[in-house]
Amino acid sequence: MRIVLVGPPGAGKGTQAAFLAKNLKIPHISTGDLFRANISKGTELGKQAKAFMDAGNLVPDEVTIGMAHDRMTQPDATNGFLLDGFPRNVSQAEALDESLKADGQKLDAVLDLEVPEDEVVKRIAGRRICRNDSSHVFHVTYSKPKTEGVCDVCGGELYQRGDDQEETVRKRLDVYHRETEPIIDHYKAQGLVVTISALGKVNEVTKRAMDALKGDK
Ligand code: AMP
Repeated sequence: MRIVLVGPPGAGKGTQAAFLAKNLKIPHISTGDLFRANISKGTELGKQAKAFMDAGNLVPDEVTIGMAHDRMTQPDATNGFLLDGFPRNVSQAEALDESLKADGQKLDAVLDLEVPEDEVVKRIAGRRICRNDSSHVFHVTYSKPKTEGVCDVCGGELYQRGDDQEETVRKRLDVYHRETEPIIDHYKAQGLVVTISALGKVNEVTKRAMDALKGDK
């Protein structure tokens, strides 16, 4: 299956993507994670992306589309993938449509995670992620780790992403409404969008998502 996950920052895309990818046996491809990995390794691409990310802006398409395409054409993604955070604007969606078409492929679904805006701000402000694996996500109130600052899964250090601070979150939400939301209409026109509520426990949302993807809404 080839799936795109869309939703505002804080909708739980990273968390859900990790579970869904495992259930569906396809790789989880997160452009945000790819950028963060490049930043930690100090690559040229990471240097180009960092200032945009720190400001809560989108990294330019020239950098992003090539990086996403390289990852999607790796051998483990031959039979499908779950895209998390890409495409993030209409021109990226068009580039993706074209590259899939050129390879005789198509998307199976666009899963839209819906969550009210005040909930998003609460979720992000308290979010802490593991330095070893960004799918290990905790929250200072809703999902506390057993030991403060330490990942329950692997013992890694938990930290707050620089772009999770309140001012940057507001900026990222603006960018989401302005640039990313229009891709939902782009994909509605192709009959691909399935919308689910992202409220509730993580496993309830995963179940809702799996049912929706099976067409069993
Ligand atoms: P995320 O981890 O998906 O929240 O992404 C973190 C940041 O990485 C975003 O706020 C953007 O600055 C950048 N980013 C991730 N994916 C994209 C994309 N598809 N296009 C442009 N910028 C992106």
